[in-house]
Amino acid sequence: MQYESGDDKYVEDRRGQGIVGRGLPIGLGGLIVLALLSWATGTDFLSLLGPAVQQGAPSDTTTGPVQSSPEEDQLKSLAGAVMTDLNEQWERLLPGRYRPTSLVLFRDQVNAEGCGLAQSASGPFYCPGAQKVYLDLGFYQELKERFGAPGDFAQAYVIAHEIGHHVQKQLGIMDRLQQGSSRSQHNQMSVRVELQADCFAGVWGHHAANAHLLDPGDMEEALAAATAIGDDRLQKQSQGYVVPESFTHGTSAQRVRWFKRGMDTGKVSECDTFNSQVL
Ligand SMILES: [Zn+2]
Repeated sequence: MQYESGDDKYVEDRRGQGIVGRGLPIGLGGLIVLALLSWATGTDFLSLLGPAVQQGAPSDTTTGPVQSSPEEDQLKSLAGAVMTDLNEQWERLLPGRYRPTSLVLFRDQVNAEGCGLAQSASGPFYCPGAQKVYLDLGFYQELKERFGAPGDFAQAYVIAHEIGHHVQKQLGIMDRLQQGSSRSQHNQMSVRVELQADCFAGVWGHHAANAHLLDPGDMEEALAAATAIGDDRLQKQSQGYVVPESFTHGTSAQRVRWFKRGMDTGKVSECDTFNSQVL
């Protein structure tokens, strides 16, 4: 990607902030499982775990200097530039309806206002209460090594997907997730919400491409990321088999399809996953 470094207008760096709390009863094994399921379940997974991850004393925070490696500085720089571009594009696409938001960088765990205490192992997420995106830069290492999706546009896609949820929140779409009583109904709705966020990420990608921000190979990077974090792939990796009813994000093919649809058309109206017969 082509971007200007040093733009952190929409970045809240809380990496130096430690949370002093009780020990969390999740072992390393549990954290790894959480990492694998991060994209499949997002913040929902945390709420399912309930008290196990909500424990701790989020009010006690310590603030120290932010320790950052050159690699992390570079990741932060890209994230900042992507956030600025995302906010500008969406303000342009949805004038008067889109409010710019921030990316909160954290390390290990964060107290997300309105979403409770979250571990970095649960992956990047959007908290509708705070209306902010949360990311531990360590996830990019995982994206590269565990999910085989390296590259700056793959990293940008991750943020663009979460901003897709912010767009849904602004448009009142996110609240539809509350509908549907049974678990499988909830999951079906969740898949449509997630695929729409992928499509919205693509819409941004379309405009980034028009603005000549993309390099050759960038599109492939994002598609690799979308493929790597489909529910079917994640489930196969973690449990060796696939249970379609439990999908909450959609299959790899679906994620790729909706991202491409947004990318090809650049139109919000093309992202209506809720009235689409075929996902
Ligand atoms: Zn999502």
